[in-house]
Amino acid sequence: MGDSEQRHRLVVYGAGAVGKTCIIQRFLKKTFTDHYKQTVEDLHCRDYNINGVSLKVDILDTAGTMSFPAMRRLSIATGHGFLIIFSIDSSGSFEEAKQIWEQIKELRSNYQDLPCVIVGNKCDLETKREVQYEDAQDWARSEGMESAYMETSAKLDRGISDIFQKLLEQAKIPEIRKLEPILKRRLSANSANLS
Ligand code: GDP
Ligand code: MG
Repeated sequence: MGDSEQRHRLVVYGAGAVGKTCIIQRFLKKTFTDHYKQTVEDLHCRDYNINGVSLKVDILDTAGTMSFPAMRRLSIATGHGFLIIFSIDSSGSFEEAKQIWEQIKELRSNYQDLPCVIVGNKCDLETKREVQYEDAQDWARSEGMESAYMETSAKLDRGISDIFQKLLEQAKIPEIRKLEPILKRRLSANSANLS
């Protein structure tokens, strides 16, 4: 099997109710719901054919609690790229994000080369903010993730395509590199259509 037939697995981590499922739904289906349903683990598979280049992407939506340690270890071991989500109105969720990153560092010796974006979601809840932008950015930088802290609102559709685009930029996958300019145009066209 050639490299181009490989599936690229993106794993989405974060504490319960930070908005992991909403971010994925917003990205894939352009929808949002206020209704909360707990996730155990959901895999979304997408095959893209962009200008003749095939791109197979799996997005793994995780439970977001510490209650499935074996599942967590497996997804860390098999992931090609990671989104670590917290909610800006919950300092506890930021602490959990740090713990997840510690687990990734423990299990993946090449962690410095892994595409990883730290996401502060629910930025529409500015008045309830508990995690300062600078604090999250400083932490990401201190862990070697230069410019990899981004804020989103799945509710208002802010910054969602940017976090996926950032992951793709960081991925050292030849066919993704080739597609970068096209994807960039597509993603920005998509968000333009929504606003
Ligand atoms: P998960 O457990 O991390 O998958 O969290 P969900 O995606 O299920 O979302 C948990 C709750 O937060 C739901 O009630 C969502 O409607 C809400 N939520 C998700 N994203 C946002 C956001 O950007 N802003 C606000 N205000 N609420 C959000
Ligand atoms: Mg969920």
